[in-house]
Amino acid sequence: MPLHKDEGIVLFKRAYGESDKIVRLFTLGSGKVAAIAKGANKSQKRFMNTLEPFNHISLEYFEKYGKGMVRIENAHVIETNEGIETSLKKACMAGFFTEFVDKLTKDREKHSSLFYILKEILTRVRYADFTYSDVLFYELSMLQALGFEPNFHTCVYCGKSMNEEDRTCFSSERGGTLCHRCSRFIAHKRYEGGVIERLASMRDGDVISREPPSSYSSCGGDNGGGGIFERDARDLLEGFVSYHLDIEFKSYRILKSVMR
Ligand SMILES: [Zn+2]
Repeated sequence: MPLHKDEGIVLFKRAYGESDKIVRLFTLGSGKVAAIAKGANKSQKRFMNTLEPFNHISLEYFEKYGKGMVRIENAHVIETNEGIETSLKKACMAGFFTEFVDKLTKDREKHSSLFYILKEILTRVRYADFTYSDVLFYELSMLQALGFEPNFHTCVYCGKSMNEEDRTCFSSERGGTLCHRCSRFIAHKRYEGGVIERLASMRDGDVISREPPSSYSSCGGDNGGGGIFERDARDLLEGFVSYHLDIEFKSYRILKSVMR
């Protein structure tokens, strides 16, 4: 049985039996993997503080432990989750994005760009207070990496380029903007005040090489009209995600309550 080497982010852990631990990892090489760490719940030394949620770890594992799981042989922390557990808001933020990855990926589906986005989020969330713009930015980045992003640039019905038009009409069902002509006969919601333009500009460009939003380093810096944008952008994205992905995020409800 060959020994595999990889790195991964711990999404979830639980005790199993008297002495073992089961974890779900989002690995760079193989995507989401369920793993068992024998003796991890007993031996303080072997996996001490390693298999904890939000940790970025290196690991060696054997395939085919059974029940679709691999068996972790060795694991070491590359980057710890230290700092995340100190604040409810940070823990909720990290919990939301790990749940996002957990729910929207399938086992053994490799997504290296998504891995790096999650890693970046978990690093930044330790040091900075995310604003709602940061949450939107990363949420859109993750949707883009998964190929689920909303279309903000062309009319989703007739294909007309929307760059010249006021982008105010958004169809959750069709997954993007509508031109004025098509909006007369296709169900949509209206978003005034440049909400769609702002979301589109947030999302443009290459996900990984992009700079984070400017509000990243400031604490709660997205004021000055951010309230209405936040409300509308949240409404648009929630409508889109819940229509297309049919997933309820427990952690999102909690996150919203702590971001108020
Ligand atoms: Zn159209």
